[in-house]
Amino acid sequence: MSNEADTPRNFIEEIIEDDFKTNRHGGKVVTRFPPEPNGYLHIGHAKSICLNFGLAEKYRGRCHLRFDDTNPVKEDIEYIESIQEDVRWLGFDWGEHMYYASDYFGRLHDYAVDLITKGKAYVCSLGPEETRKYRGTLTEPGKESPYRNRSVEENLDLFRRMAEGEFQEGEHVLRAKIDMASGNINMRDPVIYRILKAEHHRTGGKWKIYPMYDFTHCLSDAEEDISHSICTLEFENNRPLYDWVLEACETPNRPQQIEFARLNLNYTVMSKRKLLQLVQEKHVSGWDDPRMPTISGLRRRGYSPEAIREFCNRIGVAKRDSVVDYALLEHCLREDLNRRAPRAMAVLRPLKLIIENYPEGQVEEFEAMNNPEDPSMGTRRVPFSRELYIEQDDFREDPPKKYFRLAPGQEVRLRAAYLVRCTDVVKDSSGSVIEVRCTYDPDSRGGTPADGRKVRGTIHWVSATHALGAEVRLYDRLFTVENPDGEEGSDYRKFLNPASLEVVKNCYVEPGLGNAETGVTFQFERLGYFCPDSGDFTAEHPVFNRAVTLRDSWSRIEKAGE
Ligand code: ATP
Ligand code: MG
Repeated sequence: MSNEADTPRNFIEEIIEDDFKTNRHGGKVVTRFPPEPNGYLHIGHAKSICLNFGLAEKYRGRCHLRFDDTNPVKEDIEYIESIQEDVRWLGFDWGEHMYYASDYFGRLHDYAVDLITKGKAYVCSLGPEETRKYRGTLTEPGKESPYRNRSVEENLDLFRRMAEGEFQEGEHVLRAKIDMASGNINMRDPVIYRILKAEHHRTGGKWKIYPMYDFTHCLSDAEEDISHSICTLEFENNRPLYDWVLEACETPNRPQQIEFARLNLNYTVMSKRKLLQLVQEKHVSGWDDPRMPTISGLRRRGYSPEAIREFCNRIGVAKRDSVVDYALLEHCLREDLNRRAPRAMAVLRPLKLIIENYPEGQVEEFEAMNNPEDPSMGTRRVPFSRELYIEQDDFREDPPKKYFRLAPGQEVRLRAAYLVRCTDVVKDSSGSVIEVRCTYDPDSRGGTPADGRKVRGTIHWVSATHALGAEVRLYDRLFTVENPDGEEGSDYRKFLNPASLEVVKNCYVEPGLGNAETGVTFQFERLGYFCPDSGDFTAEHPVFNRAVTLRDSWSRIEKAGE
């Protein structure tokens, strides 16, 4: 760790290093990432994953993956599988330390019985409405439940019958006996067990009662010998309860809860409830729709794990909530892909270009760099012929000043091939240009003219006879406003961006891209970064997703909307 000694520590690292000095957790760092398997992971979870697994790596401890599966109604095996896949894809490994809170249901039940025996928990039979009234408010203390002073025997008997399924849901709950006058509402005799007659995906019909989060989480941490239990700020007021339960249950070890600010990103929503709604109402094609802020969506979009980890690294760990600009996530992606993405040529809106003095039937292959930023990535051969496609945008019949691309009489460089000069155009009956005619300079092979004359513009192209037809999906932000959650009561779905997906069908890509592998994102020269769609790409029907433009395109769109 000596080389890290100089880098500034975040506040959690400071706590850990102080704990080393006082030997608070025996010099150990054991963290956990505890998702509830009720949805797919999103970029906010990535922050927590990078933090928890990152600390374990840095301090040579370990990090557990624990499924916090105490709510059988909302949980699903599909989520459990996707969560594991996403954590692994991000580059982290829990080794043999994968756990389920449901593994501890037996132990938790014993702890509950123990609390009842000690007079620290009781069965309460108030209905939900009354319970709410008795709870009090932030400014008024709560009132003690009339069931608070039931005898230990009666409590044990009722709790046993709750567990045996004798009562209906809501008829009774088990509550911790703490303090109804506490300034902290969480401490006003919180519910620790409820009756729920639902099949659990792991324990089946065994349990008719399920432990609540505040009881489960701290005891699961203790069971796993977690040292630092890191969670988001909204749990700050739950910390006294976390400590109370561990104390009351006299657990042999005492994990320490530390809160940090959750990641908020603009132009998106991040609550799993809303993401599920987007999926169920078919505003998106699924949890892995490339517009979703989910890990699987970002992966399908063409994000690399490196870019996401770097993003999490840059945003840092703080104690105060803030909103991070989506542009930073895209910036991290561009930076990573610029370094690592192989280059390729693709034409999204094709315009035919014919080289009149190039022999019919002749084919040459040009050597193109796979990545000018990294010569070790080598070169590839790109076929060239008399008929090419170029981008419609790269030709103007009536060019403005400083337009260095193709225009009548103007000369341009075809990337890695030749210089061509426009001699004529062919139009359809409506007057649109459907073909550009050129001549090429045979003494400019590779793009450098023999006489050294200057040509400012360079455009990309594909050979019409060799190129593969492709579909390209252009994605933009899912929401049109920075904060779709907006004010209380407004519906975030009103702000869905109707132009978040544009499908461009008649594109052409260089022939080598038929063998593109999913998981590799390319830079289509001058256009942006694109990856084969992991769902729909085939060699016969290549489909590419745009991961990100070469530059921030959002400002351009704002202008277009003016
Ligand atoms: P959501 O509010 O999106 O439904 P959650 O907090 O209920 O998420 P969990 O599955 O309980 O989701 O989260 C697992 C872990 O990920 C928790 O430790 C939680 O603190 C953390 N986490 C969730 N969202 C974020 C976020 N936006 N930023 C940082 N950490 C997060
Ligand atoms: Mg949660």
